[in-house]
Amino acid sequence: MSRLLTLVLFYFMVSFNTYKDVKIPCYAWMSGPGKATDAELKTQFTNLKRKGIIGLMYSAGQEPEKYRRIGKIVKEADLEFHAWIPTMIQNNNPKIKPEWYAVNGLGESALDKPAYVNYYHFVCPNHEEFYQYLEEMYGRIADIPEVDGIHLDYIRYPDVILARGLWEKYGLVMDREYPQFDYCYCDKCVADFKAKTGIDIKSVEDPSKIEEWKQFRYDLITNMVNRLAKMVHSKNKQINAAVFPGPNSIAKKIVRQEWDKWNIDAFFPMNYNDFYLEGTKWIGEMCKESVAALNNAKPVYSGLFICPDPEKRAKESDPENHGLLPEELEAAIRESMENGAAGVCLFTPDRMTKEDWIVFEKAISMDY
Ligand SMILES: [Zn+2]
Repeated sequence: MSRLLTLVLFYFMVSFNTYKDVKIPCYAWMSGPGKATDAELKTQFTNLKRKGIIGLMYSAGQEPEKYRRIGKIVKEADLEFHAWIPTMIQNNNPKIKPEWYAVNGLGESALDKPAYVNYYHFVCPNHEEFYQYLEEMYGRIADIPEVDGIHLDYIRYPDVILARGLWEKYGLVMDREYPQFDYCYCDKCVADFKAKTGIDIKSVEDPSKIEEWKQFRYDLITNMVNRLAKMVHSKNKQINAAVFPGPNSIAKKIVRQEWDKWNIDAFFPMNYNDFYLEGTKWIGEMCKESVAALNNAKPVYSGLFICPDPEKRAKESDPENHGLLPEELEAAIRESMENGAAGVCLFTPDRMTKEDWIVFEKAISMDY
């Protein structure tokens, strides 16, 4: 064989090898489509498939027509297609009544006085009509043939404690639960809790000490998820969720997600180490906890937060622009896999640099 031919063959082996040799299921969170044409989307999705991504958690609002259009193209690229739609955060919408929004310990509604950021319009999980709204909205999208699953997000309360890495950004010291970030104290929640336990939560000096009050709120979210799961499963579709790390060490404590009780098909913990001022070893610890909490019965895909601009990382003060550097990505994937994760999920492919993709393609073709 001539040297040139050997080189050409070698080039093709390297270029196409990744597609065949991928050993780790990798998903990606993505939003769109913006103004992209069908052809542009096809190129984008095909590229991701070639790089080793097997499925997309795709966010395109709540309109079925968008998912129908994008789903067809995603399927042409031979990827799984999950509709990624926030649950408890809802913008002003004629179908959602202002009185359904969650109320904090100071009596302020998340509709007109959201915590932390202006989009934190959390709805209270204790309104049957709101559940019906969600069931209808998710149901319409689950009915689309190209949709493989519903991916829940913001399926939680507002952060009663922010992740440690975000305190400086918001100028807060969150050494305990403060009433302005603690939800929900709407009339219905207060009355239902009183009827259930005899406790008037509004008269309690430190509600964070009342275990039943915590459980009451975990259960409201869990019930909502499990009802949605039943509906989605009845349509023979999957349902999964982006969750906070843990559940015990973080998710329950800061956003009241007792997600090990959720009857869904897969869990995507956002193991965003920089938000917690942690390194890649912590990602492994979180995966270990998640897998153990689920008794290894459901797949856990370790959510990895990628740094969009590694060169500016050191000078960047906003943790939301931090994230894994190319030299950390292999360790993040290895830690996840060696601690029981079924795969990983990238936040986001758009943040991945050329260097990241090189590391990624190698890391996902290894045995762990
Ligand atoms: Zn409420």
